[in-house]
Amino acid sequence: YCKMNGRHGLLFYTDQMNEYYNDLVSLEGDLREAISKNELELYYQPKVDIISGQISGMEALVRWHHYEKGFIPPNKFIPLAEETGLIVQVGEWVLKEACRQNEEWMSLGYAPERVAVNVSAVELQRHDFSARVKRILEETGMPPQHLEIEITENSIMQNTEECIKTMQELKAMGISLSIDDFGTGYSSLGYLRKFPINFLKIDQSFIKDVETDPSDAEIVKAMIQLGHTFQMEVVAEGVETASILEFLEEIGCDLYQGYHYSRPLPPHEFEKMLMPKRRY
Ligand code: C2E
Ligand code: CA
Ligand code: CA
Ligand code: CA
Repeated sequence: YCKMNGRHGLLFYTDQMNEYYNDLVSLEGDLREAISKNELELYYQPKVDIISGQISGMEALVRWHHYEKGFIPPNKFIPLAEETGLIVQVGEWVLKEACRQNEEWMSLGYAPERVAVNVSAVELQRHDFSARVKRILEETGMPPQHLEIEITENSIMQNTEECIKTMQELKAMGISLSIDDFGTGYSSLGYLRKFPINFLKIDQSFIKDVETDPSDAEIVKAMIQLGHTFQMEVVAEGVETASILEFLEEIGCDLYQGYHYSRPLPPHEFEKMLMPKRRY
């Protein structure tokens, strides 16, 4: 990918890259239309409390069903959307839809209450980000306490002071904040202390081999302690087996997500996992 090569001071130009660029350019136009043509959809993955085994929230993950090319994974179009600035429109749609869906579930009497939305650095760095979130909450009638925003460790580290300010505004509104992909970035302990974060999400690359790789196990234990030191709840991502879950329980991890409990699901399937709230 050219940006990577550029970083190393090298820029190769090949037919393959030419093709790659043509692809990207046509995808960009398509993505612009995808929003209005209703090609984007949100899937939901449960966040599960390790001790009680109950679903305590969910993460919204965007899906694009391209009219011709079929399913395009977010790892492919989110970076493109970030480079072209389209992420602002995509992000706005995601936030609105997640709030709308969550309010619908709440009004139907389902627990849980909190939906987490991924926000990229490009969105977070816009000066009006917290004002836009506030407006969407008002428009959809969603209480801020029902919203969680996930920000990757790397995106906080770009433009840190600005990000901390925006995070403080969001926190003051009553929104929960998560640091995503923790362990893959470069945040120092000093910075971590400054972030007004509620949840620390350990990147799945550390979880995968946590039972078999002693150094991964030590790193995960240290991250859990670190999170607890800063009064954060710790979430393990990418939990695929019962034995990994057991191990995480032993070492005091608070929450988990992963295929072991459920893959991300479209709303009508996700709904079946939600328990009706007790009615009085
Ligand atoms: P992420 O936020 O770290 O999301 C977790 C990814 O891991 C999701 O991939 C999820 O489907 C996958 N996953 C969950 N459990 C497991 C498991 O047990 N094993 C494995 N191998 N994978 C698991 P997905 O949905 O393809 O999303 C990829 C990335 O795209 C996300 O990583 C996030 O960075 C980005 N993304 C997705 N939706 C949005 C969005 O609405 N806005 C923004 N800005 N980024 C998004
Ligand atoms: Ca996430
Ligand atoms: Ca993650
Ligand atoms: Ca990730």
